[in-house]
Amino acid sequence: MRVIGLDIGSTATKGVVLLEDGGCRFRQAPTGWSPRLAAEGVFSELFREGGPGGEGPDCVVATGYGRNLLDWADFSVTEITCHARGAAFMVPGCGLVIDIGGQDSKVIRVDGGGRVLDFAMNDKCAAGTGRFLEVIAVTLGVEVGQLAELSWGCEPLALSSMCTVFAESEVIGLLASGRDRGEIIAGLHQAVARRVAGMVDRLQGQGTVVFTGGVANNEGVRRSLEKQLGRAVVVPEGCQYAGALGAALIGRERLTAGG
Ligand code: ADP
Repeated sequence: MRVIGLDIGSTATKGVVLLEDGGCRFRQAPTGWSPRLAAEGVFSELFREGGPGGEGPDCVVATGYGRNLLDWADFSVTEITCHARGAAFMVPGCGLVIDIGGQDSKVIRVDGGGRVLDFAMNDKCAAGTGRFLEVIAVTLGVEVGQLAELSWGCEPLALSSMCTVFAESEVIGLLASGRDRGEIIAGLHQAVARRVAGMVDRLQGQGTVVFTGGVANNEGVRRSLEKQLGRAVVVPEGCQYAGALGAALIGRERLTAGG
């Protein structure tokens, strides 16, 4: 059986196909102005990856903020459920999932099977999300992919504003007063980590802490989280695909159960 999971995120649309030979393939595209078009593009690419025969997948499962737009999917599942499932599959022993995406951050306490026990979510403001880092990266004249490297060995500069708009003005002021860019970036990573650590404290999960979502690609944020939490924080390979993988796994389970 061939199953596709699609995670239509605010920033990126991710897809995973589970192949009949036990392998899998990952694809992503910017969500852009049309979540529907982005999902169709990712689906077509994965479909081609599906191997010879040209037959369609047995099941397509949608998740993410745009999941309800995909009326051609077999069913949809909330992103909390899918992220928990995918992260627990990627890292056996996972007890807590921290997911930081483009416009939200969430912390999910899970059991051994990746089922959700409790969660906390910030989707009301850009503070502590990928968007916050993206906006400030533009102000600093760098790509988000360069942030970690530029902050190596720098002492974090405490920022007083967490609101993206105020933080942007604060950073412009700091640059004008000659402060080091690396210290500012280290301060940004610390600010994001503190924000998320507050949610972790409320949930108190045991087990391995697994960091997923696009921002988990930023090693500076991972290290800051470890410092804040006083615990190891693991970033699995393919961290941005945890939600799509979870959706595909749930689809496969339903097919196997005949539901
Ligand atoms: P969503 O599901 O909300 O679309 P994702 O989990 O796909 O979010 O993550 C998107 C975020 O990840 C964006 O804010 C983007 O800037 C950030 N991101 C993606 N790749 C990297 C990278 N290599 N380094 C740092 N940040 C990254």
